[in-house]
Amino acid sequence: MAPKIFTNARVFADSGAQQREIDFCNCMVVQDGKILHIGSEDDTTVQNLLGSGAQITDLKQQLIVPGLIDAHTHLLFFGLSRQKLDLTDCASLDAVRAAISEYAKGIPDAPRILCRGWQQPSTGRLALATMLDDLDPRPIYVEALDLHSSWVSTAALRELPLENAKELGPHQVACNENGRPSGLFAEAGQADIIWSFLNAQYTTEEKQNALDETFKAYIAAGYTGAIDMAMDDNAWEALKLYRERNGALPIHIAAHWLITPPGSGGSLGEKVDVAIAQMREWPPSPSPEFCIIGIKLICDGVVDGCTAALSHPYTGHVGIVEPLWPADAMTEVVQRATQAGLQVAVHAIGDAAVTQAVNAIASANAPDGRHRIEHLELTTPEDAQRLGRLGITASVQPVHSDPAILHDYQKLVGEQSFARAFAYREFLDGGACVALGTDAPTAVHLPLSNLYNATTRRSATRPEIETRTTPHQALTMAQAFHAATTGAAYSRFAEGWTGRLEAGLWADFVVLECEWEAGKLLEARVEQTWARGRRLFPVDVSQA
Ligand SMILES: [Zn+2]
Repeated sequence: MAPKIFTNARVFADSGAQQREIDFCNCMVVQDGKILHIGSEDDTTVQNLLGSGAQITDLKQQLIVPGLIDAHTHLLFFGLSRQKLDLTDCASLDAVRAAISEYAKGIPDAPRILCRGWQQPSTGRLALATMLDDLDPRPIYVEALDLHSSWVSTAALRELPLENAKELGPHQVACNENGRPSGLFAEAGQADIIWSFLNAQYTTEEKQNALDETFKAYIAAGYTGAIDMAMDDNAWEALKLYRERNGALPIHIAAHWLITPPGSGGSLGEKVDVAIAQMREWPPSPSPEFCIIGIKLICDGVVDGCTAALSHPYTGHVGIVEPLWPADAMTEVVQRATQAGLQVAVHAIGDAAVTQAVNAIASANAPDGRHRIEHLELTTPEDAQRLGRLGITASVQPVHSDPAILHDYQKLVGEQSFARAFAYREFLDGGACVALGTDAPTAVHLPLSNLYNATTRRSATRPEIETRTTPHQALTMAQAFHAATTGAAYSRFAEGWTGRLEAGLWADFVVLECEWEAGKLLEARVEQTWARGRRLFPVDVSQA
C-alpha cells in the first residue's frame, strides 16, 4: 500500500505522563497499518516519499492524537442499555413515572419495559414495586445510573427467580414487613437475580445487534481500544461470536474476568481457576487485540447507594459499611491470580475499600503485575502515594466526578472526605500510571466530555453549572490525553504496539477538530478514527 502522509496537522507528540505541556509536530506518515514517521514535512523521509505515489492529506491544522482507549467499560451492557429508556434527565418521581408510561405506550409488543439511568435521589431514595405497578401491567425494570441497583415492579417480582433472595440480606434485596422483596435490588441482588434472569431473555441476535451498536458508537467517538471490566460467559460468548462473524473486531479489547465474592456460588479457588483457563485459551500473546488479561473483584458499592466502604459512617447513618470482600479472601485471590500471571483489577470507591485493595495487592508483591484499582473516588493521602510505589494503575472515570451527578455526595461522605475526592493529581504526582475510562454504560462513553471533566472538573452534561469538583486535582490537557491513550495502553500491557504516536506502532489515531484548551473540549469534534492504518470513521467505502 502506498504511504499516507498527513501534513499541516498538529500531531500530539507525547513525551511523558507528568508533562504539563507538550509539543506538536506537523506531519505523520502511515504505511501498512503502522506509523512510519512522525516529525516535520521537511524531514528527508517525508521528502523522499513525496514523489513516490504517496497519498497526501492536508489536515488544515486539525489535531492528531493516539486512538483513545476506554480503560474501563462494559461493551455488551453498553449496547444493550442503548435500547432501554434513558431516565437520566428525570429529576423527580413524577418525571420518572411519566417517562415510563409514555415509553411503554410506544412499545406495545415488547414483553417487558426496560429502563436505565435512574438516579436514586430523584425519587427520594425510595424504590417500591408499588410505585411502578399502575404504569403498565408488563414487568418493569429500572436500572440505576451507577448500575449498582435496580428497581422493579410487582409483575417483575412475579417472573424473577426469588427462591434464594432471602440469603442475600436486606442490603442486597430490600424486603417489606412480611419479609417479601419490595422492589429494590442492589449489588449481588441485582447481578445474581436480575441480570442473570434478563441476560437469559436476550436472543443471540439481540446481543449481536447490541455489539454492533457499541462498536459503531465507540468508533465514532474516537476509540480504537477498550478494556472490558467485568467479563462473564454471557458477554464473552457474544464477543467471540461477533469476532468470528466479522473476521476481526474493529477495536482492540482486553477483558477482566469477574470473580464474585465468597458465598455467591462456588469456591474462590474454582472461580479463579475458571479465569485462569479463560486466559490460557485467550492469552494476550499471540492475540493482544482480543484477550483475557486479568480478573476483576468488586470490593465495595457506590456512594450514591451508601454501599461504598468508607472509614466512617455516612452522614445520618450509624455504623460502618463493610467491603463486599473479607480482606483475607481478597488477599488469597489476589495472590493466587498473580501467581498464575493474571492482572488484578479491584473496584474500590470508598477509602476503606481502597486501603483493603492496596493492602491485598501489596501482599502479592508484584509491581510488574500492573495490578489496578478502579474508581478510587475517596482515598487517604497515604494510599494515594502507595499506588505509585506499588506499581498500581489508577483507573479512574472523570465522568463520575461530574458536579451534575454528585447531588448529595458531599453531604453523604462529609466535607472532609469530599475535599479529597477524585484525587487524580496526587495519583499522578505519586508516580502511578493514570488510565482514563468512562465505565459506560454507567455514564456516557464519550471521551472528549470525559477529558473535559478531568481537566476542568466542571460538568460536561450541564456546562451552565459553575461548580468544580476538587479543582486542585485537575489534570492538564497533556496529562489527560496521555492518561486516555498511553496510560490506558500501559494499563493493559499494550504500550509496545499502541497508545502513542511513534514510528513502528500500530497506526491507531484520531483526527480532531479541537482547540488545545480544556474549556473548549465540549466544542471539539471527532473528524476521523483510524485503526491499524484503516479509516473506520467515517467509513471508508474504498476500503470496505
Ligand atoms: Zn464498571
